[in-house]
Amino acid sequence: MSVTSQLATVPFVDLKAQYASIKSEIDAAIEQVLTTTAFVKGRFITAFEEAFADYCEVKFAIGVGNGTDAISLVLKALEIGKDDEVITVAHTFTATVEPIVLAGAHPVFVDVDPITNNLNPALLEAAITSHTKAIMPVHLYGMPADMDIINEIASRYKLPVIEDSAQAAGTRYKGRRCGSLGTISCFSFYPGKNLGAYGDGGAVCTNDFDLAQKIRMLADHGRSDKYLHKLVGVNSRLDGLQAAILNVKLAHLDDWNAARREHAAEYGRKLAGIIDLKVPETPEWAEPIWHLYVIEIPDRTGLQKALKAQQIDSGIHYPIPLHKQPCYPEYQNFSLPVTEYKAATILSLPMFPELTSAQIDQVVEALATFQRG
Ligand SMILES: *Cc1c(COP(=O)(O)O)cnc(C)c1O
Repeated sequence: MSVTSQLATVPFVDLKAQYASIKSEIDAAIEQVLTTTAFVKGRFITAFEEAFADYCEVKFAIGVGNGTDAISLVLKALEIGKDDEVITVAHTFTATVEPIVLAGAHPVFVDVDPITNNLNPALLEAAITSHTKAIMPVHLYGMPADMDIINEIASRYKLPVIEDSAQAAGTRYKGRRCGSLGTISCFSFYPGKNLGAYGDGGAVCTNDFDLAQKIRMLADHGRSDKYLHKLVGVNSRLDGLQAAILNVKLAHLDDWNAARREHAAEYGRKLAGIIDLKVPETPEWAEPIWHLYVIEIPDRTGLQKALKAQQIDSGIHYPIPLHKQPCYPEYQNFSLPVTEYKAATILSLPMFPELTSAQIDQVVEALATFQRG
């Protein structure tokens, strides 16, 4: 029986379906911004910042231009610069590390844990030197890093912990939200993220009043008043339209994340037992939000081709670890075995809240057929 001809495409994400489900709310919010012309600063930003701080269970959230700027601003606020070292991972999106290098500091890469895909706490202490100025774990794919151990080591060495929470809006670790666990955290509202704007956006979250004030100033030309510039800052603000859109979407985030969790459970059940295919594991202390659903498979190239032939989109996050990127020639000989193994075998399957059971079945069937050869 051939069903190929009847198969509809399974997209990797479906932002149109999501917009359709909240169109009237979004359109009304946009119209409010247009009619009040609160494009930069003002009440839509304040409302979103307050709601997002509550959501993340922190005292302060500061809207910024994007997630990459969030990290840059945090490094600047912590006065991290020339010859300093920041411990992080190479198994992440490039934006985790660009700001470190642009600040004149050096990333020190620690390998990842094979289960969480995140900074392996067992390797952390050995990476600390007299130049270390911060530790930056990433909650990759929406899975929390093992923060208690990381925080314990950081506090012994009096080092700040910066959470790259770009993929983890809503993730819980031992019941607490990612983004509230370290010294300060960075979020991205890139459209494809679990909480996505309709353009670029980001936020910094912290419980530290002084750091919050400093980030707010740095992101707005170092202003302490309209024409009083206490610091040399940048222009990296969340704009009114994005804030209003995000405020509408934030109210749906827990439902969307719950839908992703159901899809992940369904994938897990239906993919169990397929030879040579490893589905993600969740430690008991983790409540991931499944920004990405990532399997491991030896013949990744073959599988991706087979999926494409069945009109199923997939992705690789990320195919080249940062220490092997041409922009960092000084790290080429570095060895990070787990990171390198992951980069060679991972495949991200379609994952978004509006994904249907029929679409999951289509993906599962294609995977099973491929593995049967
Ligand atoms: C998306 C992302 C960023 C950067 O966010 P932008 O808003 O795209 O600048 C940083 N780190 C990680 C892990 C990301 O996934």
